[in-house]
Amino acid sequence: PKQKRNHPVVSEQVSSALNGYTPDAASITSSIKYHAEFTPLFSPEKFELTKAFFATAQSVRDSLIINWNATYDCYEKLNVKQAYYLSMEFLQGRALLNAIGNLGLTGAYAEALSKLGHNLENVLGQEPDAALGNGGLGRLASCFLDSLATLNYPAWGYGLRYRYGLFKQRTTKDGQEEVAEDWLEMGNPWEIVRNDVSYPIKFYGKVVSGSDGKSHWIGGEDIKAVAYDVPIPGYKTKTTINLRLWSTKVPSGDFDLYAFNAGDHTKAAEALSNAEKICYILYPGDESIEGKILRLKQQYTLCSASLQDIIVRFERRSGANVNWDEFPEKVAVQMNDTHPTLCIPEMMRILVDLKGLSWKEAWNITQRTVAYTNHTVLPEALEKWSLELMQKLLPRHVEIIEMIDEELIHTIVSEYGTADPDLLEKKLKEMRILDNVDLPATFANLIVKPKESTVVVPSDELETTEEEVESVSEEPEAENILEEEKEVEAVPEPPKLVRMANLCIVGGHAVNGVAEIHSEIVKDEVFNEFYKLWPEKFQNKTNGVTPRRWIRFCNPDLSRIITYWIGTEDWVINTEKLAELRKFADNEDLQTQFRAAKRNNKMKVVSLIKERTGYTVSPDAMFDIQVKRIHEYKRQLMNILGIVYRYKQMKEMSAAERKAKFVPRVCIFGGKAFATYVQAKRIVKFITDVGATVNHDPEIGDLLKVVFVPDYNVSVAELLIPSSELSQHISTAGMEASGTSNMKFAMNGCILIGTLDGANVEIREEVGEDNFFLFGAEAHEIAGLRKERADGKFVPDPRFEEVKEYVRSGIFGPYNYDELMGSLEGNGGFGRADYFLVGKDFPSYIECQEKVDEAYRDQKGWTRMSIMNTAGSYKFSSDRTIHEYARDIWEIEPVELP
Ligand code: PLP
Repeated sequence: PKQKRNHPVVSEQVSSALNGYTPDAASITSSIKYHAEFTPLFSPEKFELTKAFFATAQSVRDSLIINWNATYDCYEKLNVKQAYYLSMEFLQGRALLNAIGNLGLTGAYAEALSKLGHNLENVLGQEPDAALGNGGLGRLASCFLDSLATLNYPAWGYGLRYRYGLFKQRTTKDGQEEVAEDWLEMGNPWEIVRNDVSYPIKFYGKVVSGSDGKSHWIGGEDIKAVAYDVPIPGYKTKTTINLRLWSTKVPSGDFDLYAFNAGDHTKAAEALSNAEKICYILYPGDESIEGKILRLKQQYTLCSASLQDIIVRFERRSGANVNWDEFPEKVAVQMNDTHPTLCIPEMMRILVDLKGLSWKEAWNITQRTVAYTNHTVLPEALEKWSLELMQKLLPRHVEIIEMIDEELIHTIVSEYGTADPDLLEKKLKEMRILDNVDLPATFANLIVKPKESTVVVPSDELETTEEEVESVSEEPEAENILEEEKEVEAVPEPPKLVRMANLCIVGGHAVNGVAEIHSEIVKDEVFNEFYKLWPEKFQNKTNGVTPRRWIRFCNPDLSRIITYWIGTEDWVINTEKLAELRKFADNEDLQTQFRAAKRNNKMKVVSLIKERTGYTVSPDAMFDIQVKRIHEYKRQLMNILGIVYRYKQMKEMSAAERKAKFVPRVCIFGGKAFATYVQAKRIVKFITDVGATVNHDPEIGDLLKVVFVPDYNVSVAELLIPSSELSQHISTAGMEASGTSNMKFAMNGCILIGTLDGANVEIREEVGEDNFFLFGAEAHEIAGLRKERADGKFVPDPRFEEVKEYVRSGIFGPYNYDELMGSLEGNGGFGRADYFLVGKDFPSYIECQEKVDEAYRDQKGWTRMSIMNTAGSYKFSSDRTIHEYARDIWEIEPVELP
């Protein structure tokens, strides 16, 4: 749609006026005092920091509620088409600075707090992170919410309100330790519980045919989902959208009073606990059957509650004459990865069983409403559910999925005919939603082949299954995780599975990848059969990040400089203006300011490192950072082995030689390993061990420091990213769908070292080849390289062999690194054969790192590269991404509030 809004450069006062009132420091002070008095959380006599935070947040929430109500009223009256972003994860981080920044009230709040004896920065530090996500996928969802509100799009997010956030990570001498993150302990000042907005959710039970000819899902276990609303303000606009999070409770009246009074307290509490545990944590371990059931319950709760809510809203807004055919003109549902796939059968169930629509009508409406974003490139990382388990938990949905599968079979048969049974069989095997499930009776005689009655698995699929241990998903599906300890049981028959991605593609009208290279892989490899059938469904939507949180608020020094040189603060919304910095890239004044801002940000990280690890690092050294989930495909192992190689070389040189060859570096790591991901935890242990040796080596001093910052989260990212000079995005090519931290680093004037993978490819194009350190094999070479290894033809570089030997020598302590090193070897006995090709890319990686040292010595040249990264990063604003979703998939228009 045409962008209706032309953002003027508004001053903070004007923007407050936009919000209907002009809170000045004095009125804010009294509002904070009011909340301090009436907030029941704390004892009244003291106004300590924690209390100051809660009272401040409550006072901000007042403004947000006013705007939330105005936004909601407006959509309700205009009955505009609304988009709904369904995601199991929202990695919101802290909200206070973002909210007052978006409202244009940062200065006024700072002044008000100072009158009350507090410093804004200290108050901001009191807020716990809302960590309802793992990493990129969840943070993407949160950036999208900010862009939707800022651009005035009528849209909501739907998710789950997890009682515990993503675990807190501690690093001990044994490596990573996980501790529950009790983020709601003191209450959440941002949420508004809507006790009047709740929906019944059913599990188990059975399906019966009624005399009305309809299917009825009866019996089973009933819970209810209650809405908690989190207002999401846009930047310098009144629009405040909603993140609606569901919490699960037992339906009222379901407490077993008889059992309780009879003394069976456990039985009485059982229903309560069964309902509430659904929302305890994100991705409960799913190796046990109970864990699997809980995850499926979570997914269904999100889908069912959200759809019931959307449908109730549609009916209410339609008034007396509900025209279901108009539903897709009022509603767009985006599924963030396959976790919300059950939206499709759930929508069919509601429309057919409860609203009385025909299957055909309901299918047409469903398809026109939902769309799917794929985040994963490897077939083995795609989500599959046991059909048997799903049948028990959601019997009606399985019937619906079976019908959708049957229709798909029809389509495949009419597309490919029956003349070539082998071909047809292959297509069915690749495309059907149900895997390892016999054809329905109507098709039983379709594939008549001379003798083979069992389904033949194509040879390329067999290869894949052998390697099914590998994962590229950022979400730690336990079955995706490498665990050589897992015993392989002999399975007489392949398990019957529901392939969620296939269901998404069939049931939705659009499928998108999240970076250009990724979307090409989706079309050409992962879902090629579907692409051939429905090319019009496939799209690319390169990810983006919000420049508000990720430049304007986390890097105020850099923001001031940008505004000064561009002459307006408009770049915060119109990021293409950042490109204007290019023409000043060699200007000495700008360069000096850029360096000063970077140094200031580095100083903050020096303190953070001291506080969290006890290490003292020099702000004069290059800050070289790799922060992201710990995963083999992200290759933190290659980074740390490169550091080990550097250290080994240093130890073999004289002091003078060392100084001449290497620039001082602080190598910073951060990221969490999924609790059961053994290999990732070994990598964390290895990094901390290397740090413990190197950082205490008096010969090395400030020339090299290795730091693992524990408990990486959004708040830590907001400190680390602005301080970074080099950042590492070094995944095995073809395995990272996009990455989003790479975008944030580039925006903050950091130079990337990386492979041609995910969004790196586009970042390099935008910032210029000279401003990006490229190395490594390319995606199209990977299969060949793996084969080369398998055939025993790969000859490792002697430097790689040397470095592994050095690690094994025990230089980094008594831990036995045989398994970690063995995983990088063809015949290490651990069955991995360096699947992620660390050995292959190692030589080009360390040579590229030498170029980095050389470039860093020329500080003018380096600063130029840094400016060119900020200037070239404008494409990666999530505003651009959201405009594209709005135009190409959701067909929604911005709405200006009156
Ligand atoms: N975790 C956090 C806290 C983040 O802020 C981000 C993105 O910036 C990520 C994970 C994803 O990082 P990456 O894109 O490097 O995988």
